[in-house]
Amino acid sequence: MARVVVAGGAGFLGSHLCERLVARGDEVVCLDDLSTGSERNVAHLLGTAAFSLVVADVSRAAPVEGHVDAVCNLASPASPPAYLARPLETLAVGSEGTRRLLELAQRCGARFVLASTSEVYGDPDVHPQTERYRGNVDPVGPRSVYDEAKRFAEALTMAAHRASGVDVGIARIFNTYGPRLAPGDGRVVSNFCVQAITGAPITIYGDGSQTRSLCFVDDLVDGLVALLDSAVTGPVNIGNPDERTVAELAATVLGLTGSRSVIEHRALPADDPRRRCPDISLAREVLGWEPKVSLDDGLSRTVSWFTTLLSGGSTGGGSARGGSTGGGSGGGGG
Ligand code: UDP
Repeated sequence: MARVVVAGGAGFLGSHLCERLVARGDEVVCLDDLSTGSERNVAHLLGTAAFSLVVADVSRAAPVEGHVDAVCNLASPASPPAYLARPLETLAVGSEGTRRLLELAQRCGARFVLASTSEVYGDPDVHPQTERYRGNVDPVGPRSVYDEAKRFAEALTMAAHRASGVDVGIARIFNTYGPRLAPGDGRVVSNFCVQAITGAPITIYGDGSQTRSLCFVDDLVDGLVALLDSAVTGPVNIGNPDERTVAELAATVLGLTGSRSVIEHRALPADDPRRRCPDISLAREVLGWEPKVSLDDGLSRTVSWFTTLLSGGSTGGGSARGGSTGGGSGGGGG
């Protein structure tokens, strides 16, 4: 049994990670400022002795007493609308927040895992993306608040490793989806599921030919835990290489829901990456990890969860109703 700090633990990814760690017998201290995460995401864990929620903005303080064995940093707004609405906070949590959490890890001799993102590759001109690719980020574009915050967080993490010997692991997380995505999150899967279920128009940004590769959250958490339990520094891509166009994704969601929603095209957001697909050779080799859940299976489970949520039923394991994003996750937004 280990004592693990999960910063951003009340977000979409973070709450699934907390759940997994508690289930295997770890004690989890969840730090979250609840700006984009939600207490509802971890409500089912709150009664257990092995879980505590500390409401704190890690860019200002990381108030954890006593020894910890590991620190996982998933604290950040993660969906494009969420980080674009909080530009300075996103930069602060990636920089100051990461620095504070690295200090905590150093003080305790703990392993530190950073939830970085495929966004460090920007709009990539190498495809699929390997960890060696250095990226194509516009440092003054609107998305830079997230992309550069994560790139800086990676730099800080490696500096702490080299200068102070902190045991670190960096995960570059590609687009992730599943239950507990907040319906108003603005990400493609939550938008399409909610739109299809409610009969609202499906909003495709641009012509829908841009691609993403979507990983079901259970697989993603398997990968993160494998990294946590290893001595691998990385960075390591964690994602599902099943690449689809956004138009294909819309058609799949329409098919699964039997919805009659029409498709409406909207303007493509600035700097929206044209394509994205992880090369996961390294994760396979050093973590023995690869995703197992197919897109159809994962989307069916996600659609069921949203259907229950939107009909006012109990989703079990916490719901995200009303939350603005599933933030507190370092890479669910890609
Ligand atoms: N997208 C879309 N309709 C939506 C939301 C997103 O067409 O309602 C597109 C978006 O332009 C991008 C892709 O879906 O090309 C993934 O967007 P998301 O915000 O989920 O994550 P990103 O990978 O861009 O961070």
